[in-house]
Amino acid sequence: MLTLTGPEDRILILLPWQTQGSVGDLLQIALRRMKAMPLPYGPVSDPRAAVRYALHSGATAIVGIPVQVLAMARHKEGHLLRNKIKYVLLCTDYVPQAICRALEAAWGCSVFQHYGMTEMGLGGGVQCRALRGYHLREADLFFEIVDPESGEVLPEGETGEVVFTTLTREGMPLIRYRTGDVSSFLPGKCPCGTVLRSLALIKNRVDGFIQFGGGKITLPDLDEKLFDFDFILDYKAYVRKNGEQSELQLVLKTVDGSKADLSAVIKSVLILPALQDSERHRLILQVTEEPDFTAFTGGTAKRTITVIQ
Ligand SMILES: [Zn+2]
Repeated sequence: MLTLTGPEDRILILLPWQTQGSVGDLLQIALRRMKAMPLPYGPVSDPRAAVRYALHSGATAIVGIPVQVLAMARHKEGHLLRNKIKYVLLCTDYVPQAICRALEAAWGCSVFQHYGMTEMGLGGGVQCRALRGYHLREADLFFEIVDPESGEVLPEGETGEVVFTTLTREGMPLIRYRTGDVSSFLPGKCPCGTVLRSLALIKNRVDGFIQFGGGKITLPDLDEKLFDFDFILDYKAYVRKNGEQSELQLVLKTVDGSKADLSAVIKSVLILPALQDSERHRLILQVTEEPDFTAFTGGTAKRTITVIQ
């Protein structure tokens, strides 16, 4: 956090924090240690309430879950935070670039990404102001990139599966733990001068695709298309397979259940190579009006494509 934050900052924490040792709890302890002011809040179930809390508490930075922070920015009161929020740090889930662009445009802020998982002790790496890759927590974790098939360590710079080994942990040591995430080490030095290695931003998982018609479809493919539409807050993707035929169903959560023209959405999704073979797939789009935001985002759960056989 020292690379992003100073003692003048008031950081709104939109992560679970009530339990001792939870991610939000550890973050607030760390922020206090560096004399910054943590504002623990929790996951966003009501975007309007979260925007108002951010305003009234004088938050200058936000740490949260990508779709939940996006819902705040795209709420009709979200613009009130413009030029008040200096930076947003996104974590717990894959971060679509389309969401980073939307937050930067809405609030005039910087957007950083964090990489981690429970098995790493939550923290794995974080972007610095150079926004290159994640600087890894190498004092505690040893990272390698391996061939996902053979498990062989790949030469520096090649893309493969991220595995890590805990160096200092006594309770639950892990050796070459397979994360399922696909990435590569970035060669060369970061302009910030860190001695830590940088890992390229995670864009995919080893098993993170669904066979669809003649091609593959991934959640990041859909994310980058859908989150560019400023009325889309979140969505659920279902693939139904019926013999040779595949059916992609997208249920969109839109701003105020807006019945926007969906033809542009359909057109942008249809550009995906996996959807080119129109004989063998169908695209169904539904727009839901779900007033309960949590019913849609599912708290801190990672988003996935659901396959219905
Ligand atoms: Zn750096």
